[in-house]
Amino acid sequence: MRLLLVDDDELDRMAVVRVLHNPNLVKDIVHASTAVSALKLYDESTFDIVLLDYLLPDMECLDVLSQLTQHTEKHAAVVILTGMEDNAVIERTCIVAGAQDFLLKKELSERHLTKALVHAQARHELNNQLLETHKRLKYLAENDPMTGLSNRYYFEEHLHGSIQRAQRFNIQLGLIYLDIDNFKLVNDSKGHDSGDQLLQKIAQRLLEVVREGDVVCRLGGDEFAIIVHGLDAETSSGILAQRIIENLRLPITINNTEHFVTCSIGIATYPRCAMTAEDMLKNADLAMYQVKREGRDGFHFFTGALKEQVLHRIMLEDELRSQRLQSQIVQHYQPIINAKNLQVCGAEMLMRWDHPTRGLLLPGEFIGVVEELGFLDAIDTKNRQLACNQLALWRSIGLVDDQFVLGVNVSESLLRQENVPNEIQKDMAAAGLPGECLSIEVTESVLVSDFEKTSAFLNRIKAFGVKVAIDDFGTGYSSMAYLKWLPATILKVDRSFVQNVPESQADCRVLKAIIIMAKSLGLEVIVEGVETAEQARLCQEYGADMLQGFLFSQSLSPHDFAKFLKAHNPETYKLNTLE
Ligand code: C2E
Ligand code: CA
Ligand code: CA
Repeated sequence: MRLLLVDDDELDRMAVVRVLHNPNLVKDIVHASTAVSALKLYDESTFDIVLLDYLLPDMECLDVLSQLTQHTEKHAAVVILTGMEDNAVIERTCIVAGAQDFLLKKELSERHLTKALVHAQARHELNNQLLETHKRLKYLAENDPMTGLSNRYYFEEHLHGSIQRAQRFNIQLGLIYLDIDNFKLVNDSKGHDSGDQLLQKIAQRLLEVVREGDVVCRLGGDEFAIIVHGLDAETSSGILAQRIIENLRLPITINNTEHFVTCSIGIATYPRCAMTAEDMLKNADLAMYQVKREGRDGFHFFTGALKEQVLHRIMLEDELRSQRLQSQIVQHYQPIINAKNLQVCGAEMLMRWDHPTRGLLLPGEFIGVVEELGFLDAIDTKNRQLACNQLALWRSIGLVDDQFVLGVNVSESLLRQENVPNEIQKDMAAAGLPGECLSIEVTESVLVSDFEKTSAFLNRIKAFGVKVAIDDFGTGYSSMAYLKWLPATILKVDRSFVQNVPESQADCRVLKAIIIMAKSLGLEVIVEGVETAEQARLCQEYGADMLQGFLFSQSLSPHDFAKFLKAHNPETYKLNTLE
């Protein structure tokens, strides 16, 4: 054992040396007469025990004690020596401050001192072990063993603390909440081992891009968070998010295979969008959710408007999940007009949601969610049956003639179901309708995504006389060249081609070209979105067969549609009738 003996009184030091006969215990005693020299020696050398006089001329004992016990590299047990008698309070203070024992100088005997030193050292070792265990436990409690990043527990603690500091110093704070896109696919297809390795590499990448002082955590699964500090945290969060997105896009190699990763990021900042740790996390999560919805691989800042949007959607989902939906969906009908004689020659069935509190909702407000939830197929099927029944009724009372064609929209997923052509045929038969009075509207993007299969499917529908209309033509990705292969009877030119007619000369020429080309391929042409008489006139001139749009009518309930039919008079549009 090496001992550092600190006492300004040389006689007292000699007394200690005298009583410490035991050479087996203490091999080396180094003397110091001042606190400063003792601390210097302590720094330069290594001791097992320090015997420290309570009264030193140059420093308070407690200060020396704290420097000894809080030294980052040196760890020795400390025993305090004192000449004072009445010392209960001081003794406690010293023990609390980290000393292992407290001895009265006048009680020093060999037996006493030896025992004290041995006990002090044993106690000190035990203390050190406890400290190590504590550090290890703290590390385990605060870190994610897989990636080595801080974990959720640490993150929450740290965020609380950061907010308090930001409040005090009036600075900003950014929270970047990050979720790996489609991570489940990696886990499922390549196994959990690869998944783990991927997460480790992602963690490394994150550490590479952050600034010093930014805290990176793994919240769990494939979710990470970064706390961005600083005066300009708001701006730097956005820049960092963009850097992360770009960095993660670079291929990640695992077991000689390259993986391509994207992520969705939501950002909440203090004090702009949240004042508490809980709100920051919640809001960043909400912004991230919106990125996921919009197709992933990007970032969003949280805003009040975004919250509205997301909450609205969540509410919508809840409502849609409830069973009442189907009974609240109603079928409206928009007239389709023969371009030559301006008589009503058909209609398109368009659904509406007759919402109990919000009134009649247009498909744009709910169809996306309905589709994502997987309800659209059932709704379309039901809509089609009801529309067939409606048409059969109109025909039976002579409101429409045999040439009248009703268009119904068909969702993409319905088009993938083998038995749908048969079901359409069955519905027609059940309503007592011939195939020719129905047209199935399909968007061109559906056709492009799986051309052969969809074509075969549509040909089966055409086989029993039902018409096939390519809807929203010009908005998808199909080229004109596709058209000649399409199993279509009707082409519905999207309303974006009419919108700027006649003001835009270029648009007029494009509209004309589409109509001429479609006609040359033997298709019937319906121009959608005709809102003015001038647009209708030009469509007539370019050779369109049918017109649909607000100039004639919006979509109408069956009752109003019947009224419209009865009142309809081609003269009112002040257009030339060509027949
Ligand atoms: P779409 O098939 O292109 O239907 C035409 C849309 O354009 C309708 O909107 C119609 O109201 C609107 N429109 C018609 N004429 C004009 C006009 O002159 N100006 C303007 N600005 N708009 C006009 P709506 O009813 O909101 O339907 C939107 C879309 O929802 C439809 O587009 C269709 O893709 C889908 N949809 C509607 N009903 C159903 C349905 O029962 N099943 C399926 N799968 N989709 C439907
Ligand atoms: Ca349509
Ligand atoms: Ca359309």
